[in-house]
Amino acid sequence: MNLRKSISFLSFILLPITLNYFAPVLIVQASFEKTFTIMHIIFLLMILSAIFFGGSWCSYICPFGALQELVPTTKPKHKLPNLKWLTGGVFFTLIIAPLIMHGFQKIILPYHMVDTKVSVSSFHDLIRYYIITISIILITIVLGKRTWCQYICPMYIFNYIGMNIGSFLKLPSLKITCKSEKCTQCKRCTNNCLMGIEVADMVKNNNWNTKECIQCGECLNVCKCDVLKRKWKK
Ligand code: SF4
Ligand code: SF4
Ligand code: SF4
Repeated sequence: MNLRKSISFLSFILLPITLNYFAPVLIVQASFEKTFTIMHIIFLLMILSAIFFGGSWCSYICPFGALQELVPTTKPKHKLPNLKWLTGGVFFTLIIAPLIMHGFQKIILPYHMVDTKVSVSSFHDLIRYYIITISIILITIVLGKRTWCQYICPMYIFNYIGMNIGSFLKLPSLKITCKSEKCTQCKRCTNNCLMGIEVADMVKNNNWNTKECIQCGECLNVCKCDVLKRKWKK
């Protein structure tokens, strides 16, 4: 198991502790209650991470991404429309709108966990944990590996925001570069991409233009022709 998979697996193991810290519903609820919580810090960190490390949060840190990788399944069976801008836009609006209107009026960092600091600390929490994890497993089995990440996840909006801030400010960030002339178009990179990106086509056209890459490095690992490299680039 490589370093990325080890970190991501650890993140999944810790999910009974961290579930609430990553919960989209709870951050929206907290914003409506004018409460600054640790979830706001987590999602700000995701934006910051995306500025400098692209989508790496999703391949290293996110426990839900890790869970989808653990499910033995194949690539998504169908190409679906990318709904992440839509789901993420609604999600982001629900977080920001109440804050613009009222701001923060209190701080409760371990929101919903004041006594325990642990997300799963009761039978009710355990049921919620299983509902969430089993739903993700079922979606992955039925629709394919990382379908949720590729097409639906509202949290990906923070990656888009961070990456666009980085591009706008011309800040250096982790990017994949390619030497097209070495490519044999074997398509191993495309077939192994966790986000279903047509990597071989981008290499062929010498045009690496995607905000869907989560920097998992699988394409680099499977390419036998040393075409792909990771670099800091503006
Ligand atoms: S797309 Fe969403 S669920 Fe998938 S790894 Fe990223 S934040 Fe997690
Ligand atoms: S795996 Fe390497 S050689 Fe094969 S298509 Fe991808 S970039 Fe080209
Ligand atoms: S396989 Fe390559 S292109 Fe696909 S998400 Fe991972 S690093 Fe990005």
